Amino acid sequence: MAPIPLLEPCLRGNEQRYLAEAIARNEIAQGAFVERFEREFAAYVGSRYAVAVASGTAAIHLALCVLDVEPGDDVLCPTLTFVATANPILYLGARPWLIDSERETWNMDPDLVLRILKARRPKAVIVVHLLGHPANMEPIMEACDRYGVPVIEDAAESLGAKAYGRHVGTFGKLGCFSFNGNKIITTGGGGMVVTDDADLATRVRHLSRQARLPGVEYRHDVVGYNYRLSNVAAAIGCAQLEQLPAFLKRKREIAAVYDEYVYNGPAWAQPSFWLYTAQTHDRDALIATLAAEGIESRPLWTPLHRLTMFTGYGPVAEDLFAHAVSLPSSVSLTEKEQLRVMYPVAA
Ligand SMILES: *Cc1c(COP(=O)(O)O)cnc(C)c1O
Repeated sequence: MAPIPLLEPCLRGNEQRYLAEAIARNEIAQGAFVERFEREFAAYVGSRYAVAVASGTAAIHLALCVLDVEPGDDVLCPTLTFVATANPILYLGARPWLIDSERETWNMDPDLVLRILKARRPKAVIVVHLLGHPANMEPIMEACDRYGVPVIEDAAESLGAKAYGRHVGTFGKLGCFSFNGNKIITTGGGGMVVTDDADLATRVRHLSRQARLPGVEYRHDVVGYNYRLSNVAAAIGCAQLEQLPAFLKRKREIAAVYDEYVYNGPAWAQPSFWLYTAQTHDRDALIATLAAEGIESRPLWTPLHRLTMFTGYGPVAEDLFAHAVSLPSSVSLTEKEQLRVMYPVAA
């Protein structure tokens, strides 16, 4: 039987047409699709500004830069996340302060954030919306606002998810998204920074293009980065964004079948179900059983505090990691394939 991948991109919209347009106009690196992708993306999530960048990791790096995170600063972030959330903290010589998960959402525990802010004043907090499920933004924002600590949202996995009726990525000072190959929409590789703050948007844009000043003499006022998104990638992004509502509908249908009933998470959350992940009794046995039938599944990321570059502790994250299995969740997954995932042992 045909193998079932964990996540594969779906390129059945205007991707070819827009790419052909970009090529016909000879606009590969720069061109009209970048500005259009930014404008349409900002309108979709409901933020004032969007700056397209080369990756989700670049988006987080630039968000930390414009909040002036410097060597020796503390930055809070969850321990249960993909390493790209925390690596940019290390790029800047700052110190990641890893926070455990809460049981209900698997995301950063708001009570722990409040407790730490009572004792310490980090330079920033990075909240991650994992697997398509929003973090509990209301108590997190309340705690951070009370102590005047800016929030960056890593919404790389959760474009289209909402908390309290509002798109993830629009609660904090800056929101970061990824268009890597397996994300809900893809540009082959890319990212976006959103913000309502004109000054921060200008600074992100400036840093993403080598901090070059206007004029022909190639003058630069600070150390910048080559983090722009190409027009070719943005062309694919525009086509993908058009399909996002249909992708979300399909992700929610897939989740409802895996759940065998309607989602019963917290009432304030509207997940996107980017990657459906189940708690199991025997994680490795399930992964092996599925693999024997050509079905790709995988555990969560090793909690960051277990990696050599980080320190910390997180018993809830460890427990989630020990039991969770991510299941095939491509929008192209057929009903028959999904039944093969749910009942993998051949009769
Ligand atoms: C994918 C991802 C990123 C990084 O995005 P890239 O585009 O791959 O650089 C960051 N954080 C999380 C949680 C991710 O899943």
